Amino acid sequence: MKLAILSDIHANLEALTEVLAQASRLGVDGYLVAGDIVGYGADPVACVEMVQDLNAAVVAGNHDWAAVGKLSVDTFNAAAAEAVRWTSWRLEASHKAYLEGLPLSHRTDDLLMVHATPTDPASWDYLVSVSDLREAARHVGGRLCVVGHSHVPFVYRVTDNEECVWQQPGDYPLEPEATYLVNVGSVGQPRDGDPRACFAVLDTDTQVLTLVRVPYPVEQAQEKILKAGLPRFLARRLAWGS
Ligand code: ZN
Repeated sequence: MKLAILSDIHANLEALTEVLAQASRLGVDGYLVAGDIVGYGADPVACVEMVQDLNAAVVAGNHDWAAVGKLSVDTFNAAAAEAVRWTSWRLEASHKAYLEGLPLSHRTDDLLMVHATPTDPASWDYLVSVSDLREAARHVGGRLCVVGHSHVPFVYRVTDNEECVWQQPGDYPLEPEATYLVNVGSVGQPRDGDPRACFAVLDTDTQVLTLVRVPYPVEQAQEKILKAGLPRFLARRLAWGS
């Protein structure tokens, strides 16, 4: 079975559409979504409804809960807080009920998915250093944990005596004796200097995880953000991928 793992869609319909098309071309037969469906972009309603149609396992992101008033925007920067308020106006009661009901974590025999960190998902902390990754990997309780939140993709692999971090797109065979912590990057607002949409595919038969990049019409997403009256910075950063 091939699972596409998406995170940080951030109401970018153009990016989500291209990612789903690419996932379908790759023969994906199931989906996981690691949170932040909304916030920043101009299409929160369409993106929530597309995710609902995927029949995916979905966890909550901080922007999802902020948009429904379940989380304060006190720690958000000004542009993010403005986007949260704008998003909240656009969402209907049914979308809000859906986002409010999302869990903080999703666990199967093989995989743990959280938005921010497995150590304490509700803290919304960022994994920034290798020591953060080492500490977080201790809380995985299995072989593979997938996260989003920082919008920077990486594959962290740790065994009893070594650890490595990779950031390039491509195939990563999952070895049985190692623990993996994987950030699947951001569909709708990449921040690693590459403006292309990012997601991961996990082949559960071959045990290979692939980081995938997909170009999408950035200008269309930017125009919608500007037309909506959202902060201009949110449009500009899509072209930079940062
Ligand atoms: Zn995010």
